[in-house]
Amino acid sequence: MSEKIAEQYKVKTEPFYRPVSNEVELYQAAYARRMPVMLKGPTGCGKSRFVEYMAWKLGRPLITVACNEDMTASDLVGRFLLDKDGTKWQDGPLTTAARIGAICYLDEVVEARQDTTVVIHPLTDHRRSLPLDKKGELVEAHKDFQLVISYNPGYQSLMKDLKQSTKQRFGAMNFDYPDAVLEAEIVAKEAGVDADIAKKLVQIAHRARNLKGHGLDEGISTRLLVYAGQMIAEGVEPLAACQMTLVTPLTDDPDMRETLEAAVHTFF
Ligand code: ADP
Repeated sequence: MSEKIAEQYKVKTEPFYRPVSNEVELYQAAYARRMPVMLKGPTGCGKSRFVEYMAWKLGRPLITVACNEDMTASDLVGRFLLDKDGTKWQDGPLTTAARIGAICYLDEVVEARQDTTVVIHPLTDHRRSLPLDKKGELVEAHKDFQLVISYNPGYQSLMKDLKQSTKQRFGAMNFDYPDAVLEAEIVAKEAGVDADIAKKLVQIAHRARNLKGHGLDEGISTRLLVYAGQMIAEGVEPLAACQMTLVTPLTDDPDMRETLEAAVHTFF
């Protein structure tokens, strides 16, 4: 049964991932000891892609949960559901991952409330277990289970941060946008545009990233550059493609929009 579920969550084909530094080796060593790992970095810089790639490389199933502030512990752990025969327990994604030996990736974990986040604690220390209080069961994590969380330090306020008692359960790796040459290569490959276009898109992103903290909360992500490239590869005129993917999603402020448009016009 659990093999069947595990098969469902396997990453079937190799995801395209270009290592930026020694992150693959570091992750492999952490996984060998089943150390919980935290990936820190801005949105759209390759964290999720990296986890997918590592799950594929290690041959482990991957269960991803996008965290949000309305998420409760039951959304992670599971709950009793009513059906025609009465109540039936349904495992949540964290419980499933612990049972089948998956890598469980909690994306943007800081979005979840702290009383939700603490349910991961017993899985991240020597206990490697998950108490299902409502069901009265203690799930011992499968030997291959590993917990990975991502977190964007840019968004944090004092109200919204991980507790030290949570943070200090993880080895952490810093992620950032790849350097210009590598990022252009990634955009060219992912979007199917030529090297010249990819290079221009990356140059626009560099201009925008300098505006972070000066009117922009976050710079243009690698993900948005891939979107811009994809629109261009679909035959959309570059100015319109950039407007849709690099300007409009980023800001509602008319001055900032003009600044970004000017950056686009410099290159297209
Ligand atoms: P996040 O950091 O928000 O999890 P993603 O992993 O979804 O970001 O990355 C966004 C996109 O950027 C990916 O879909 C992929 O196209 C591209 N990307 C970023 N970094 C890399 C990389 N090192 N190798 C391959 N693709 C990358």
